[in-house]
Amino acid sequence: MATIFSKIIAREIPAEILFEDEVCLAFRDINPQAPIHFLVIPKKEIVSLAELSGEDEQIVGRCLMVASLVAAEQGLTGGYRLVANAGQDGGQEVPHLHFHVLGGRQMSWPPG
Ligand code: AMP
Repeated sequence: MATIFSKIIAREIPAEILFEDEVCLAFRDINPQAPIHFLVIPKKEIVSLAELSGEDEQIVGRCLMVASLVAAEQGLTGGYRLVANAGQDGGQEVPHLHFHVLGGRQMSWPPG
């Protein structure tokens, strides 16, 4: 399903891109919830973690590796929060798999 994230991948709308390879893209969230807040998405149009197929295992692994690499590049030495909202109950708004990385402040638990 094509979403606004497909347009970011295609450079049809702007985003502050932090990392790109053949599998993933990382860019800053337009509505940051922490001093550092970026998203890591697969270029493949996967809806959510609830919609994975077997062939997506390496893609998801690469996205998590990119989240870790970019978090380090962004200087998040004190730690960070990784979030993947899935489906309606998970609060997912954009139906293209994405991992939020939030840092630069103390996170609380439980999330809302
Ligand atoms: P979720 O609620 O997990 O689906 O999160 C979607 C995220 O995408 C939200 O944090 C939005 O702020 C973010 N977002 C939506 N549109 C854009 C955009 N054009 N560029 C960057 N981030 C976006």
